Amino acid sequence: MLGLMQDWPLLCHRIIDHAAKVHGEREVVSRSIEGPIHRTNYANIRARSLQVAQRLDRDGIKLGDRVATIAWNTWRHLESWYGIMGVGAICHTVNPRLFPDQITWIINHAQDRIVLLDLTFVPLVEKIADQIPSVERYIVLTDREHMPATTLKNAIAYEDWIAEVDGNFKWKSFDENTAAAMCYTSGTTGDPKGVLYSHRSNVMHALMANTGDSLGANAADTMLPVVPLFHANSWGIAFSAPSMGTKLVFPGAKLDGASVYELLETEKVTHTAGVPTVWLMLLNHMAANKLKLPHLRTVVCGGSAMPRSMIKAFVDMGATPRHAWGMTEMSPIGTLAALKPPFDQLEGDARLDILQTQGYPPFGVEMKITDDADKELPWDGKTFGRLKVRGPSVSAAYYRVDTNILDDEGFFDTGDVATIDAHGYMRITDRSKDVIKSGGEWISSIDLENLAVGHPQVAEAAVIGVYHPKWDERPLLIVQLKAGQTATREDILHYMDGKIAKWWMPDDVVFVDAIPHTATGKILKTALRDQFKTYSLPNAAA
Ligand code: AMP
Repeated sequence: MLGLMQDWPLLCHRIIDHAAKVHGEREVVSRSIEGPIHRTNYANIRARSLQVAQRLDRDGIKLGDRVATIAWNTWRHLESWYGIMGVGAICHTVNPRLFPDQITWIINHAQDRIVLLDLTFVPLVEKIADQIPSVERYIVLTDREHMPATTLKNAIAYEDWIAEVDGNFKWKSFDENTAAAMCYTSGTTGDPKGVLYSHRSNVMHALMANTGDSLGANAADTMLPVVPLFHANSWGIAFSAPSMGTKLVFPGAKLDGASVYELLETEKVTHTAGVPTVWLMLLNHMAANKLKLPHLRTVVCGGSAMPRSMIKAFVDMGATPRHAWGMTEMSPIGTLAALKPPFDQLEGDARLDILQTQGYPPFGVEMKITDDADKELPWDGKTFGRLKVRGPSVSAAYYRVDTNILDDEGFFDTGDVATIDAHGYMRITDRSKDVIKSGGEWISSIDLENLAVGHPQVAEAAVIGVYHPKWDERPLLIVQLKAGQTATREDILHYMDGKIAKWWMPDDVVFVDAIPHTATGKILKTALRDQFKTYSLPNAAA
């Protein structure tokens, strides 16, 4: 027997309808690419999203067509998201930090028909335009006054483009499983892979993100997503904030410590989200200028591990650091380190220990850890295994790739290695390809890195496995010192000694000027492995 409730498809544009109707006056503030601060609200965002949808419809964009955005976080980008999805097209967010060759590859793979781009990226796209023939026209996210002379095909300023229609338009209606958006993983090896979100998966994900123990914001709060809309579905914030009526503050192109601080301070931001590098810049700026942020309550941090020193810095300033783990394939929320009872009573280091885990999953994410034979491992907080996930916002397949990516129970292998404790708190110990296999045992490169960055002179640390004749692989610690600081191999090893098992101690330490990063800010271990592939450890003859 079926239930007798209404069939109300979970469609993304229903979120902006709700925001406009119930929270219409709630502000969306942006640092514009042109410079000045721009203020609008959810009612206007919806009205202009409808113009985008109507204009795309007039350009012949149909259900399932791909429309790309290459843009920073601003009100125009948000309007584009809802307009593209509301006409039934697929909003393809392109990460401008990828190499031009990768951007070309991705646009060709997606067969994007229209590209909406910020002023910043016009020169970049002009260089690859003749290699992306599927693109019929370019919309520059600006007004006529700021529109540059460009060789881009059929280019027009966004404001002129939407002014050609009146916005008297109805969203298209379709099944909730219709594709809404796509985002390619940056793939440090092999081709990028297209993750294809559905309307349903995005709405379900927004509901997961809305709980107090997830992103933690409400209608009375103000959220500043430093995380770009083009990184992993904006961590869901582009849907979550309007669905609750949370005020949004967009940082535009300026993500340095001083600019982010200024917006956090002037807009009295209560919640913010970004990767550790961004928070490092903010904390350095605040420390150097003795600044405070009395309104800031929650700092969501993910994308890579949040160092303990950073967690402590936010705790000390009275904010709650919320360490989060997830991935593009998960829309992206997987787990968040909220303090549930009895851990909320902990103090000092014991409290930091929990805040430093990657946290537990909200309802809607199932997890398990398995060994190499696919046998499920215990949740004892000690045993590590491959982390696998299942849920309504987790990928079932990649776009235009035939390979099955799920196991027999429908779980997706995240490529991460983790422990899970009896309370559901998960701790990432490595990427499966980065874990160091020493004499048949696993050593966590992330644990070693986290420990090494605690040394006062160390800016960043990376650990890779290097060939060893007896143990197969042993850890090599690669260190970038803070500007103007000095430290020796012995200083660093001495600092680590006693804090980890003896057999985890790196066999050697090398110093580099800069640790390489991927386009999403993660340590580029493939490059380091390449650089040190012939490295001979001092004790290799042992
Ligand atoms: P992306 O799809 O670019 O967001 O990358 C997802 C990957 O980033 C995950 O599979 C993890 O390896 C890594 N990652 C994300 N968040 C964290 C975190 N809090 N700690 C450690 N690694 C993380």
